[in-house]
Amino acid sequence: MKKEILKLRNVKVHFPVQAGVFNRVVGHVMAVDGVDLDIYRGEVLGLAGESGCGKTTLGKAILRLVEPTDGEVTFVSKEDEETELTSLEKKDMDPFRKKLQIVFQDPHSSLNPSFTIFGSLQDPLKKFGVKSKEERRKIIGDLLEAVNMRREYMDRYPHEFSGGQRQRIGIVRALCLEPELIVCDEAVSALDVSIQAQVLQLLMQLKKDKNLTYLFITHDLSVTEYLCDRIAVMYLGRIVELCDSEDLYNNTLHPYSEALISAIPVADLDKKTERIVLEGDVPSPVNPPTGCPFHPRCPKAKDICKTEVPKLKKYSTSGKDHYASCHLIDLPERS
Ligand code: SF4
Repeated sequence: MKKEILKLRNVKVHFPVQAGVFNRVVGHVMAVDGVDLDIYRGEVLGLAGESGCGKTTLGKAILRLVEPTDGEVTFVSKEDEETELTSLEKKDMDPFRKKLQIVFQDPHSSLNPSFTIFGSLQDPLKKFGVKSKEERRKIIGDLLEAVNMRREYMDRYPHEFSGGQRQRIGIVRALCLEPELIVCDEAVSALDVSIQAQVLQLLMQLKKDKNLTYLFITHDLSVTEYLCDRIAVMYLGRIVELCDSEDLYNNTLHPYSEALISAIPVADLDKKTERIVLEGDVPSPVNPPTGCPFHPRCPKAKDICKTEVPKLKKYSTSGKDHYASCHLIDLPERS
């Protein structure tokens, strides 16, 4: 039976917009606007959407790297103990910071250029009680070998490595504290395609070896297709479709997901579908459109779409739960 590791309820992250000589708050950027989501132990959940849709902010809100404005993020332990993270004092978050880690798109941001790799990576180990230097060197050396790098690399500096190697070091940094869930935030987006494939393969091997759960954030749906068990598609701070990975590609319900999928390059010309080109950019999250937030760009929009917000409803495709928010879905709603 599937067990949750994280439960998100009505999570919102609204950033104030200040203006004028008195820096008055004149509005809010609604980066994440009411997300409900369960992440199950051992799964790879993809979180996809164009840049500016709120997916990175949501990933950071889970780790409290940005503070949610509202809502709950609950961590469920292996023993089924539930802890609501957003209500904890910062210092009480420490045991959960061990369990929840992140790999950034740019590993430079997590490596100090004037420290060796060992110098950068030993700090969290020290903080969480690995007192002996020998022990810290052993943990980092073993993890470097686990990502197919030589243990002596720990005495080199970040600039001595290629982009792919630095990303492997970013993965080692995330693994040091034996996490249970890793947020991979565009973890392979900056890499060449051939290196992307190697790092993705490595992530999947580590997931198997260390019983990890991944929240895999990406703007590229061609990466998620073979990697993820389920995929959530976000638009303007909300989830618009959430389902089994295969169903997202074969039984797409939301016009926004359809457009993203149509943009994936396909080698087999027989499988090529006509590309749906979306007009314009994602609207400003300061002043989102009325009704369905996607209506100004949706090729299928009707009058109702301009006034009524579609709810995220549960349907079934291929016998599995499939959530989507669109007025035009012609399937029976499930309870
Ligand atoms: Fe398009 Fe209307 Fe569906 Fe929104 S509700 S995705 S505008 S058809």
